[in-house]
Amino acid sequence: MRRGCARPACSEAATVTLSYGYESATVWLEPLTPEGHPMTHDLCDRHAARTVPPRGWELVDLRQVPATMAS
Ligand SMILES: [Zn+2]
Repeated sequence: MRRGCARPACSEAATVTLSYGYESATVWLEPLTPEGHPMTHDLCDRHAARTVPPRGWELVDLRQVPATMAS
């Protein structure tokens, strides 16, 4: 089942999973995980790019080093 972006009024397909690491004050962006999780949000490319971490939090984009391109 294809998952859509979690933002209201957005019908794009989700490509990114966003999750919050409350203990480390870190926002993670990673390639869409196979299964949804209550603690994560699925976002499209556009909304993932607009993600701004809360004040004092760090944004870590795990998509920047795709393993498939590491050859
Ligand atoms: Zn979206």
